[in-house]
Amino acid sequence: MFTKILIANRGEIACRVIKTARALGILTVAVYSEADRNALHVKMADESVSIGPSPSSESYLVGEKIIQAALDTGAEAIHPGYGFLSENAQFCRQCATNNLVFIGPPVAAILAMGSKSAAKNIMAEAGVPLVPGYHGDDQNPDIIKQASNKMGYPVLLKAAAGGGGKGMRAVYSEAEFDEALDAAKREAMNGFNDDIMLVEKYLLKPRHVEIQIFCDSHQNAVYLFERDCSVQRRHQKVIEEAPAPGMTEVLRKRMGEAAIKAARAINYEGAGTVEFLLDAQGEFFFMEMNTRLQVEHPVTEMISGQDLVEWQLRVAAGEPLPCSQAQLKINGHAFEARIYAEDPEHDFLPATGVLRSLQGPNENIHVRIDTGVVEGDEVSIYYDPMIAKLIVWDIDRDRALQRLTDALSQYRISGLTTNIGFLYNLATSLSFQNGDVDTGYIEEHELEIFRRRDADINYAVPLAAAAIIKRRVEQGLEAARLSTEPNSPWHLNNSWGLPAPNLTIQVQQATVETMADSDVSLAGMTPVVTDTGFDLFTPKGFFRCIEVAPDLGADDEDSHGSNLHAPMNGTLVALLVNIGVAVTKGDTLLVMEAMKMEHTIVAPSDGMVTEFYFQAGELVDGGTELLAFEASPQ
Ligand code: ADP
Repeated sequence: MFTKILIANRGEIACRVIKTARALGILTVAVYSEADRNALHVKMADESVSIGPSPSSESYLVGEKIIQAALDTGAEAIHPGYGFLSENAQFCRQCATNNLVFIGPPVAAILAMGSKSAAKNIMAEAGVPLVPGYHGDDQNPDIIKQASNKMGYPVLLKAAAGGGGKGMRAVYSEAEFDEALDAAKREAMNGFNDDIMLVEKYLLKPRHVEIQIFCDSHQNAVYLFERDCSVQRRHQKVIEEAPAPGMTEVLRKRMGEAAIKAARAINYEGAGTVEFLLDAQGEFFFMEMNTRLQVEHPVTEMISGQDLVEWQLRVAAGEPLPCSQAQLKINGHAFEARIYAEDPEHDFLPATGVLRSLQGPNENIHVRIDTGVVEGDEVSIYYDPMIAKLIVWDIDRDRALQRLTDALSQYRISGLTTNIGFLYNLATSLSFQNGDVDTGYIEEHELEIFRRRDADINYAVPLAAAAIIKRRVEQGLEAARLSTEPNSPWHLNNSWGLPAPNLTIQVQQATVETMADSDVSLAGMTPVVTDTGFDLFTPKGFFRCIEVAPDLGADDEDSHGSNLHAPMNGTLVALLVNIGVAVTKGDTLLVMEAMKMEHTIVAPSDGMVTEFYFQAGELVDGGTELLAFEASPQ
């Protein structure tokens, strides 16, 4: 076994790897960018090495810097985590050249699965069932369009080099095809420097069921059962569970063996995940294989009792797999909910900010929290805005789900917008409770998940108003105390005032169902002050209160539903229309990229852009006005 390893990653996965390494008596080296100087993973590791500026392209993605850090600290092996360099064949080669063990599969396996198109060809040869589609080398847009027309809409365009839902577009008719292909290619080029596309039949209401496999260098291969990751937003997983609801022993075995077949076809070693789409008839189709540890690996650990990072380290050190297939058993049920800084009410726009308070449930045998941040840390624009993974386990699905909702309702996060309320509503929605999930779940149950809690708002408004008045009175007293005219009526911040700001209440968390209907006295209510207002934590849930200046509320643009401002800090990717040229309401005017996602700014009405204030490639701050728009006369 190794004596020292370097972890080429950050956040929760770096912390996760450090924990297992420590348990095995292995020393750890962390690497960090400027933004992560004081991050948890740096504090947890035995040693740490600075690898440069905050953007990952200048730090976590620079293989040479990481190799140098490993050589300088005497690490024998590198764990890449997930994302960053974990599926980068070039980096894997660099490790070998420098006599460092890459804790992952061999280069050839990464290369084989690195392109979704090439992977499909290999799987077709190995007899693994595929989603119907076109994954040929000829990238002529007309050829891809013809293939789509032939297959029939809807189809799904995917970047061959893709991941994380990037470079992916559903197309519902031929008329939409050209624009969708351009957008998918642009996103792919931006994200992966490669815009090769494939197209698949867009299956309606499939489930995403994936198989965790493990292989060693002694020809052993096992599958550690399945995970159901059907509940997704923007094609990205939100809540995962194991085992998959309704899975039969027969289907599990068929899928497990197909996954092993896929792994054997590329002489796989280490941890891998074979992703399938499963239809209502129990037919399953290979989607792709991820040649690394997955974000959602903890649910497998919880039901199998195995530590997958330990398995990775043992396999990389040349040891055989710790268990045979016959020794692996499923025990109970586990869920993972991904807690993100993002705004579900605004298309899951990633959020940034300081975690002013971060309190959650206690960890025990039922509750596990994998995180890389602590209270006071900042969720920055540079990396994925995940705050934590909440993992729960119990002896069956119903009980595990109860654990999940209980744990979610115990979270108190303020300072930025999170998806906790959304996760809670999702976990308590009826069909989810029944295990009736598919990849369209969130759209299909939008009303139930995003239901407006009118009753709760009625409850929160007086509390919020009281809290505001209390705070204003306190501020007034403080101002009077500091003033040369302490008796001036202008310090009287009670309920009179000329331009007193309006108050809007945004509901962020629905904990109402599980909470007793108890009285709340103002004395025990502690609002946490934020940049824009304050957060209220009450027995009826969490309420974000934002003070809005009266003139902002009547903003002309807002009342027309237009927004020509940057939704957040990010980069301008493309200006799509020419100045002075007529556009139609809803046309895409420009594309921005922030936190790995593209955001489009659309024409608020028929009219034209009279000026772009920035050029493609420029960085802009959230809230900045991006362009001048002149509406056509009605
Ligand atoms: P990425 O690697 O970018 O995450 P995947 O190929 O793994 O992309 O697909 C992500 C998700 O998109 C899947 O889990 C599934 O929900 C959905 N998806 C992918 N392909 C199809 C398809 N052909 N039909 C329907 N849904 C699909």
